[in-house]
Amino acid sequence: MSAIDTLPPLREVIATHQLSARKSLGQNFLLDLNLTAKIARQAGDLSGCDVLEIGPGPGGLTRGLLSEGARRVLAIEKDQRCLPALADIAAAYPGRLEVINGDALEIDPLAHLTPPIRIAANLPYNVGTELLVRWLTPKEWPPVWQSLTLMFQREVAERIVAQPGSKAYGRLALLAQWRSDARIVMSLPPGAFTPPPKVSSAVVHLTALPEPRFPADAAVLSRVVAAAFNQRRKMLRASLKGISPAIEDHLRAAGIPPTERAEQISLEAFCALARSLKSL
Ligand code: SAM
Repeated sequence: MSAIDTLPPLREVIATHQLSARKSLGQNFLLDLNLTAKIARQAGDLSGCDVLEIGPGPGGLTRGLLSEGARRVLAIEKDQRCLPALADIAAAYPGRLEVINGDALEIDPLAHLTPPIRIAANLPYNVGTELLVRWLTPKEWPPVWQSLTLMFQREVAERIVAQPGSKAYGRLALLAQWRSDARIVMSLPPGAFTPPPKVSSAVVHLTALPEPRFPADAAVLSRVVAAAFNQRRKMLRASLKGISPAIEDHLRAAGIPPTERAEQISLEAFCALARSLKSL
């Protein structure tokens, strides 16, 4: 396998800096640099882009992003032990890597980047879902980012791209697909990571749409979808009755049979329902 840069292999980096993986930080590292370069390529054309990376760890994906031509990478890492390894990468790519030691749930550095901006991460799954929801629900749309390329537990990835009628279909699918194109672009077995996690993983690539796929008020849509999937086995006229006393009329106005269940309803129909409720 050819080297992607002149820095030492990741196993050596980990040994030198004593980066034994910590479970508490969800550390499952990718040590194959050809694989991390492949993930970086899924993020699209990086030349001319600022990339925000969350959780660089020993820097496998960071090196992939830089070798694939990112104009600049801003990386946020919570584990201080990783900083010397990341400093070596910064030295090998002068002026192109900045590292912030902190918690990505508490810092929002997007304002410090220059568009076009892409986001890429191999993160602990709970942090990843929380950040995904935040990135999908900014105050203004289109968001400052152009695309998100994120590693998830396979089951979470399937929830993001799920279609009506499937068990995985729910709030995450509707939130993601309302204003972005979401695709699973890579699947990774547990053995791709060190140490291997218990489950398989997948990379999801989301591209921001210039405007929502169907018009709807974000707050109303979010309330309707939350209520509908909170009691997903109930008929919609029951699960949504707290939203409006005239819910059956609104469901019919949106073309939804009131006895239908949430997992059967398309994004387009949920948006029509949100519009009908908004017009109250
Ligand atoms: N990107 C590296 C790779 O692919 O090998 C590391 C991935 S590892 C799954 C997740 C990384 O996120 C770890 O380096 C961990 O320390 C870091 N991390 C965990 N929680 C974080 C948080 N809240 N903010 C920033 N980094 C975090």
